[in-house]
Order: sequence, then C-alpha cells, then structure tokens
Amino acid sequence: MKEDRSRTDKPAEDAEESAPNSYQLARAAIEADARAEEQMAAGADVSLRAPLHEIFTSIQGEALFAGLQQIFIRFCGCDLNCPWCDTPEARQDPPPVVWCQSKPGVRGFTIANPAGIEDVVGVVKRIIKNDPERAIHSISLTGGEPLMHPEYVASLAAMLRPLELPIMLETNGQRPEDLQKVLRMVDWVAGDFKLDSAMGRPIDAVARREFLRLAQYKRAFVKIVLTDAATEEELDEVYAQIAAVDPACPVFLQPVTPVRGIQPPGGIDLIRFRALAMKHLRDVRIMPQIHKLLGLK
Ligand code: SF4
Repeated sequence: MKEDRSRTDKPAEDAEESAPNSYQLARAAIEADARAEEQMAAGADVSLRAPLHEIFTSIQGEALFAGLQQIFIRFCGCDLNCPWCDTPEARQDPPPVVWCQSKPGVRGFTIANPAGIEDVVGVVKRIIKNDPERAIHSISLTGGEPLMHPEYVASLAAMLRPLELPIMLETNGQRPEDLQKVLRMVDWVAGDFKLDSAMGRPIDAVARREFLRLAQYKRAFVKIVLTDAATEEELDEVYAQIAAVDPACPVFLQPVTPVRGIQPPGGIDLIRFRALAMKHLRDVRIMPQIHKLLGLK
C-alpha cells in the first residue's frame, strides 16, 4: 500500500519553509545593513562645515595600509595632547583656508575653511581624476581627531561612498559615543591607542574597551605608539583588552619617531613587547612610520 505522507510531512515542510537557513539570515542582515546605510546617506547633511587642515594624496606610512596610496582628509582639533604628536599644526587654530593638493608634487590650491562637504567631495573627485592609473587605494579620515566632528564625518563619508574607495577612519579610540554615529559609513576603523607612560597620565580604559566593542562591527586594527617609557604591565593590560574583543585584531607596535627629546624603545625591548603581545593576540607587528623614512608627507 502506498504510504500517505501528506499529513505527516506537511508540518515538516512548513517548518523547513519558515525557518530561514544561515544563507538567508546572512542575506537578510546584509540587506538590512544596506537599507540602514541608504537611509543614513539620504539623511546626510551637506550644509555642515568643519575645520580641516589639509587634503592631499600620499603613501600611508603606518599600520595595516602602510605602503598604499591614500587620500588624506585631515581634520583640525584634538582632545588629546600626545607629547610626540607629529601633526601639532592640526591641533592649533584652524587656518583660514584648507590646503589641498590634487597629485603628489604638483602645486597646491585652497578651499574655504571651515570646509563645506561638497567642496571636500569636489577636491577628492579632482584627486581621483588625476589618478588615471587608479593607484589610490582608499581614503583616510584623519587628524587631529576626526571624531570631534561626528555628524560632519558621517555626512561626508556618506557623500564619499559613491566614489567607491574604501573609507578608513583614524581615531584615538577615546570617543566611542561619537564612533557609534559614524560607524555605518566607514569601512575600516584604525584605533590609535595611547599608553599612560607615554601620555604621562592615565588614559580612559573604559572608553577604550567600549571603542573596541563597537569597532569590531567593522574591519578594525590597532596601532600603539611606543616610547622608551613603555612598560610590560601597561602593554599587557591593553593587549588583554584587545584580545577580549578580538584576538585576531591586527596590532601594530609603532616605535615613536624621535621628536622633542622623546625616544623609542630599543630593538630588544620591541621584540620583548611583541612576544608579550603574542600571549594574547595572533597578529602583532613592529612597524616604524615609513613615510618619514621616505621623506613623504
Ligand atoms: S591623538 Fe593624534 S592628533 Fe591628537 S595629539 Fe595625539 S597624536 Fe596628535
């Protein structure tokens, strides 16, 4: 006798139809993300202005994208005061105009400051037009501290996205609430972590932990500038904090470029600091600032 499966199989089929598989779940998440991104882009406020220092293209000299050509949009202002800061000009009063350069080695031009979003996008388009070889890898939003202007960063990034270059946000890792406002609009987050020893005061570890928690929703990496005052204890704490969120997060130990009497650790100490990191993390590299070695901006 032919078995009648219609009654017994029906619920199973329904269950199969109603329970989305992992592919459907992933697709739904991507679509929801794209919709949210579109909404944010539609809500971009192009009337905003922010103080910028400069816009130019050069070789990235630090961390994960070292050696790649980027477009740098440098913001004015910073809430920290790192003794080794290599962009002190970005922490001074904003200049009356933003210096821009459409190609390395060519004469620069200026736009008004505080800079309007459409002006900045226009400069970026001009730089891209001057790059027929498509040598430029990505756009860096850097500073200063870009997250001192979170609404502007979110709107600017939304307007830059159609240019189809990955957008990297470089930030000091101390402003998680502002990171949340821009996170959806950027592709990469570079956390520039500070050590108490180098700063001469305690850094907010709670803000850093919250920053890491948020940054993991994007592709992220961490850079730590090391001076000869760095200690194993403070590094161990920072390594453990990163590992608690993502042990595979790339971490770059950057010996400070000597400045104003501040010196980097010796080579043997750097090897020791990296070995200590490998107790917690999987991808840790020692890397000096290569643009300085190349004599580039
Ligand atoms: S966070 Fe960056 S811009 Fe700000 S003071 Fe430190 S090095 Fe300079």
